[in-house]
Amino acid sequence: MTVPHHLLLVVAGRAGEPSRLVDAEAQHPQLSVLDVAATRGDGIFETISIGRGHPQALDAHLQRFARSARMLDLPAPDLALWRDAVLTIADRLADHDEAWVKTALSRGIELPGGGEPIATGWAYGTVSPDFRRERSDGIDVVMLDRGLRSDVSATSPWLLAGAKTLSYAVNRAAVREAQRRGADDVIFVSTDGLLLEGPTSTIVVRRGGELATPPDALGILPGTTQADLFAAADQWGLTTAVVPLTPDDLRAADAVWLVSSVRHAAPVRSVDGVARAVDGELTAAMNGFLRARRF
Ligand code: PLP
Repeated sequence: MTVPHHLLLVVAGRAGEPSRLVDAEAQHPQLSVLDVAATRGDGIFETISIGRGHPQALDAHLQRFARSARMLDLPAPDLALWRDAVLTIADRLADHDEAWVKTALSRGIELPGGGEPIATGWAYGTVSPDFRRERSDGIDVVMLDRGLRSDVSATSPWLLAGAKTLSYAVNRAAVREAQRRGADDVIFVSTDGLLLEGPTSTIVVRRGGELATPPDALGILPGTTQADLFAAADQWGLTTAVVPLTPDDLRAADAVWLVSSVRHAAPVRSVDGVARAVDGELTAAMNGFLRARRF
């Protein structure tokens, strides 16, 4: 089966020139081997879910793209141009219920002779995998020590905790460790014992009538999916809290989800091999809401 995919390059202008979009479907090569995105993972990205051609939480994603750029001392992305890129690709995927677009901004091509690299960027989109099983049956997770303290953003900002960088090799390695332990996904815990996030998701727990999630001050990515769910919580009769949470809080919670763009709300059905309750009704309501977003 061929999966439709679409690619645009965002060509950053040299000094004084505006950036522009180039349709790169038929253009080769698309990425230089000298690009530090390829050689060092030195860049940032966003993955935006698309529902029937409509980007979801696009403003929040663009703002977070700009935030990551600031954290990495990259040139500020021209958000109007990136919006245009996402909308153009989203439009080409409008026949599909669920798709996604990834935007990436690299520090650029490192010239052998030295000199300032010129930032390069691209936006790429395709159809989403089928997540029906994860969304209905739930996922098995393990808690893994991230090896960072919860105050890492303040003590060591150069570790870029909470930036969405292209260096996701560690996040992928954590998922492989989960698979070795017979699980699907990971909840990272700080060395001082606080819940952080998943490798590609935000933790949300329900405690009675309250949804809770850890604060991004702990060196985690501020989640756009969690933000949209919390903004909608009163429609399910729930209040919200952004508070530090511990593994004991996780075990005591009435329900737990890992939430993210594209997969949306995946209910957690076991933690470290211990089965836990899944709130099927609220999960279905959350995913219905997340999939139906048209902005
Ligand atoms: N945390 C990390 C480390 C992520 O990579 C992601 C998304 O990929 C999230 C949280 C969830 O963010 P969002 O809901 O904006 O997709």
